[in-house]
Order: sequence, then structure tokens, then C-alpha cells
Amino acid sequence: MNFKFTDEQVKFRQEVRDFLEGEIKQGLWQPTCDAWIMAHDPEFTRRVSAKGWIGLTWPKEYGGQGRSFIDRLILTEEMLRYGAPAACHWFADRQIGGAIVHYGTDEQKEEILPIIMKGEAYVGLGMSEPDAGSDLASLKTRATEDGDDFIIDGQKTWTSGGSNMNWIYLVARTDPEAPKARGISEFFFRTDLPGVSVSPIVDITGGVHFNEVFFDNVRIPKTCLIGEKNRGFYQILNQLDFERSGMERLMANYPLFEALIQYVKETKRNGKPLAEDPVVRSKIAQLKIELEVGRLYMYRVGVIMDEGRAPNWESSMSKAYGTAFEQRLATAAIEIAGLYGQLSPASRLTPMRGMAYHSYLSSKGYSLQAGSSEVLKNIIAGRKLELSAK
Ligand SMILES: Cc1cc2nc3c(=O)[nH]c(=O)nc-3n(C[C@H](O)[C@H](O)[C@H](O)COP(=O)(O)OP(=O)(O)OC[C@H]3O[C@@H](n4cnc5c(N)ncnc54)[C@H](O)[C@@H]3O)c2cc1C
Repeated sequence: MNFKFTDEQVKFRQEVRDFLEGEIKQGLWQPTCDAWIMAHDPEFTRRVSAKGWIGLTWPKEYGGQGRSFIDRLILTEEMLRYGAPAACHWFADRQIGGAIVHYGTDEQKEEILPIIMKGEAYVGLGMSEPDAGSDLASLKTRATEDGDDFIIDGQKTWTSGGSNMNWIYLVARTDPEAPKARGISEFFFRTDLPGVSVSPIVDITGGVHFNEVFFDNVRIPKTCLIGEKNRGFYQILNQLDFERSGMERLMANYPLFEALIQYVKETKRNGKPLAEDPVVRSKIAQLKIELEVGRLYMYRVGVIMDEGRAPNWESSMSKAYGTAFEQRLATAAIEIAGLYGQLSPASRLTPMRGMAYHSYLSSKGYSLQAGSSEVLKNIIAGRKLELSAK
């Protein structure tokens, strides 16, 4: 086993860091937690695209860079470490482009991949419905064939990216007579169509990133179907393995970890720096151990992807670990800051730029998103440990 990055990878990481530090120095943005999903900055996305950093792993024949998943992990790890405002291109780059490379027609590859690589596809993820979350196969949104088109009717909920989207990835029922997992298909289309409406959901932090999305008689051409009709559910299972790779959850609150270290260096309690308090030192050292263990999970997923395999129980393990880590980090930050830690960013006395408050509240939801921890543990129990469930 070789835990070393290649010289090129070390250089690439430094290049990404130099770019991001340069951006921060110019005052273009400030690192924040969850910026990958909350901070939409089209100009930032344009600059990332100009570097060729969207579609890094996609084949060169489609305009990608043909680089390894470990290279991509290095890039995304640094984006998350610096809390960069990457929400405009994140979903398209992370999972939609890959799905089109894998399942798309030549026409879709030629038409859609360049739009994604230019950073112009702001994607909403339309899977869950009011009565279909963990049990996604129960979804009711219909896609009915009508000549060369499908007509979409129904409702999605918790659609991340929906407030800013100009494209949506949608799963809908194409065969209502078939057993429920066998009548589902995947679609990708522009959202500036008659009959699409979006209603934002304000989350517990006061932020908006997920939404309800309604489809009322929305007509889309059949060319929007991704992959095989009625095989969508099986395609999704594969895509979810990529979505769950875990890096977002491990690293999305890294700006809080850095701010916490800075805070204990600068803050005195009872006349003594917090950094000298043995309990505080132990808590932060423990978090550092956990962070480094989580990075190994994350890079294992990258290695599996580079071997051409879909990470399955491995990405479930990485995501379940990452969400538990971020909850422990947020709790530790709140405890160390005492009552001040609970202040919202609106207060002038908020420590750590309000990130402890934000992460404490938001980290609860992420153990539900993209597969709840209970569902992920079922995957590990069933597929890794071969514990059958009747
Ligand atoms: C921050 C956030 C962002 C999200 N973004 C998106 C998005 O972009 N697009 C999208 O489509 N959806 C999104 N979701 C929705 C998310 O995918 C669902 O919340 C998730 O699948 C769980 O579904 P549910 O909320 O209906 O809960 P349910 O499925 O009803 O689950 C309720 C509880 O029961 C448990 N449970 C369910 N089934 C089992 C089982 N078989 N074994 C053991 N326990 C079980 C769950 O773990 C959970 O604790 C997002 C959710 C959050 C919180």
C-alpha cells in the first residue's frame, strides 16, 4: 500500500491552493462552511472553468481532461478546505456529467458536456418527493410519452440547488404498471419551460438551498431521457455511490476546524489561553485524528473509482463517517466557545464568524441527505458483511 501522492499530484494540489489563496487575498470571497452547496458565485465558477477544472476526469474526446479520480479528489478537497463558493457547478460536475459520460447518447455528450464544462449548467437534483425519500422507488412524478415528447407532472421536494437552477436532473415514473423500481427513468432538461415552478424551503439556519419543485404538464423532448427507459432506478443506484463518496461531509466544515484552532490560540479564559487548557487540547487533537481517518476513507473511494469500480459500501462508510464527524466537530466548537458559540452570525459577539452556530444546526440534516446514516449502515451490513435482512 502506498500512501504517497505522485509529484504531479503534489504540484497540482499546490496549484489549486495558490489559485484559491490568490482569490481570498483579492477579497473575492471569504471561506465559509457548506459553500459547495450554499454559495452560488457564477464568476467564481467561470474562473474555475477557465482553469479546466470542471470535468477533470471525463474523456479528452468529450473535452474533459482524462485525469484520475484521485486528481479530482485533490481538487475538491482543496475547494472544500478553503470553503470556496462552488455551488453553481458542483452538482453538474460531481454527478450529472459523469452520468452523461456513462449513459448518455453521443448527441447528449456533444451538447451537454460543453455546457457543464463552461460552468453554465446550474443543476437542481430532483429525486425525493413528499412520500418518497429513503424509499425512492415509491416516487409518483409521472413522465408520460406523447409523440416525440414526455409530459411531466408531479412534485419534487428537498431539491438542492433548485433556487438557482437552470437545469434539473429528474427521476420520474415512465411505466406505472411495472413493479415500482422497474418503471422509473432519468431525465435532464432546462427549467425555463412552461409549467415548472419553484418554491424555496428555508432551512433551520435561515438559509435556502433546497426547494419544492412543481411540474404541471411540462413538455420535454424525448432526447432529455438519460440512459435506458424504465432502467433509471438501477442507474441511480450507481450514481448515488458517487454522490456519497463522503468528501463533502468530511471537509465541508473544514473552515470551522481552522477557525476553531485560531480561536483557541487567540482566546483567554480565566486569564489563560484556551490553547493551554488540557481538555480543549485533547478535544481538538481527537478531531484531528478523526479528520485524518476520514481522509483515508475518502481517498479509498477515489482509488476504487480509478480502478474502474463503483464504490458501494465503501462510499456508504465514508459518508456515514463524514456526517458523524461534522456533528462532533460542531458540538466540540460550541462547547469550547461556551455560550458565545451559540450566537448567530448576526451578533457582533459571534466567535468563528458564526460557523459553529451554522454547522451545529446544518450538520443534523446531512446525515439524512444522499442516504440517511441508517440506510447507509444497512448497505454496509448487507453488501459488506452479508447480513441478510428479511
Ligand atoms: C440537507 C438536505 C439536502 C437534500 N438534498 C436533496 C436533493 O438535492 N435532492 C433530493 O432529491 N433530495 C434531497 N434531500 C432529501 C433526502 O434525500 C431525503 O431526506 C432522504 O432520502 C431521506 O428521506 P426522507 O426525508 O423522506 O426520510 P424517510 O425516508 O422517511 O426516513 C425517516 C427516518 O427513517 C429512517 N429509515 C428509512 N428507511 C429505513 C430503513 N430501510 N432502515 C432503517 N431506517 C430507515 C431514516 O434513516 C430516517 O431516520 C435532501 C435532504 C437534506 C436533509
